[in-house]
Amino acid sequence: MKNNNWLLYFMLVGIFLGGVCGWWFGPQMKAVAWLGEIFLNALTMLVIPLIISSLIVGVSGLGDITKVGKTGTITLFYFMATTGISVVTGLFMVNLINPGLGVEMVTEIPEKVAGKEGTGVIDILMSFISPNLIKSMMEMEILPIIIFSLVFGGVLTTLGEKGKSVINFFDAVNEAIMKMVHLVLYFAPIGTFALIASNLGAAGGGDAFWGELMKIGKYASTVIAALLFHALVVLPAILMLVTRRSPLQYFKGASAALMTAFSTASSSATLPVTIECAEENNGVSRRASLFVLPIGATVNMDGTAMYEAIAAIFIAQMLGIELSFTQQIIIFVTATLAAIGAAGIPEAGLVTLVMVLQSVGLPLEGIGMLLSIDWFLDRCRTTVNVWGDSIGAAVVDKLEEKYVEGG
Ligand code: ASP
Repeated sequence: MKNNNWLLYFMLVGIFLGGVCGWWFGPQMKAVAWLGEIFLNALTMLVIPLIISSLIVGVSGLGDITKVGKTGTITLFYFMATTGISVVTGLFMVNLINPGLGVEMVTEIPEKVAGKEGTGVIDILMSFISPNLIKSMMEMEILPIIIFSLVFGGVLTTLGEKGKSVINFFDAVNEAIMKMVHLVLYFAPIGTFALIASNLGAAGGGDAFWGELMKIGKYASTVIAALLFHALVVLPAILMLVTRRSPLQYFKGASAALMTAFSTASSSATLPVTIECAEENNGVSRRASLFVLPIGATVNMDGTAMYEAIAAIFIAQMLGIELSFTQQIIIFVTATLAAIGAAGIPEAGLVTLVMVLQSVGLPLEGIGMLLSIDWFLDRCRTTVNVWGDSIGAAVVDKLEEKYVEGG
C-alpha cells in the first residue's frame, strides 16, 4: 500500500459520498449495507490470526524476557498516561460546558445495556483468562487471546531451536495475513462508502440525524471538542516530543486506518489496517508495531475513556445531581477501567458505561438519552482510539530503541 495516495483519495471520496447519499436518500441506503458488511467481515476475519501471530512474533522479536518486560512497561505507561490525560480533558470540558443542565431525561433502560447491572471491575479482571480459547475466538473475546499469545510467544523463546521453528511458522502466517490486508484494502473505498451511507440511512437520513443531534447538541459538541483536543493537541505533542516526527506526516501515513476506524466504528476490525499503516507508511519497526498495536486496539481507548467520563457527568447534570470531587475521581478511575474492558467493537463503550454509572450511583436510564446518536459518536471516539494506538507504536518504538535496545 506504500505511497498509495489514490487509495486514500478514493477512501475519502467514499466516506464523503456515503455521507451525502445517506443524508439525502435516508433509509433507502440500507440497500447497500451488504457491501459494507463484506468489507467489515473481510477485515474482522483477519483479526484473530493477525493478533495471535503478531504477538508471538512481536514478543519473540523483542529478545529476552527482561527486554519484553521493559518494553511492556513502556507500552503500559504510554497507555495509562494517554488514557488518564484524555479522561481529565473530558472531565474538564464537561464541567466547563455543562451540557446536561436543563436537558430533560427520558426514563428507560435501553435494551442494549439491560441485564448488565452486575458488571464490575472483577468481571473485567476475570475476562483476561478464558477456559476455552476456541470459544473466545468464536466470540471475538480478544483479551484472553492476547494474554495467551503473549505468554505463548514468551515461552517459545525459551525452547531453543524447536521454539524457533514455531516462531518462524507464525512469522510466515503474519506476513501472509498482511498480504491479505493489502487485498482487502482495495475494496476499502466501496466498503467505507457503504458503511457510512447505510448507517446514516438507518438512522433516518440527514434530517432525522440532525434532529437527534440537536436534541443533545451541547453534549455532542462537548464530546467532539474534547476528542478533537486530544487528537489534535495532546497526542501530536507527545509524538513530537518523544519521536521528533512531524504529526502531519504521521497523520497522513495513518489516515487509511483512521478512515477505516471512522467507517467501521471498531478498533479491532481496523487493526489490520492500523498495522499496515504503521509499518508501511510510517516506518515503525515491525517489532514495536506487532507488539503495541494488537494490545492497543483492545486495551488502549483514549476516546472511549473520555467519552464515558463525559457521559456519566452529563447524566448527573441532567438529573440535577452535583457530583463531589471524590465522585469525579471515582469516575476517572472507573472510566479508565471501563475503556480497558470495552471490546474494540461498535458501541462497546455504551455497555461498559454501566460500570461507571453504578460506581457513583447514577441511574442506567440515562444511557437511553445517548443511544440515538451513539452510532455517530462511536465513530468519532473509535477514530481517536486508533490514532492513540498508532502514535503509541511510534512512541514505544523510539523509547524502546533508546532505553531497551541501547541498554
Ligand atoms: N467502538 C469503540 C472501538 O472499537 C469502542 C467503543 O467506545 O464503543 O474502539
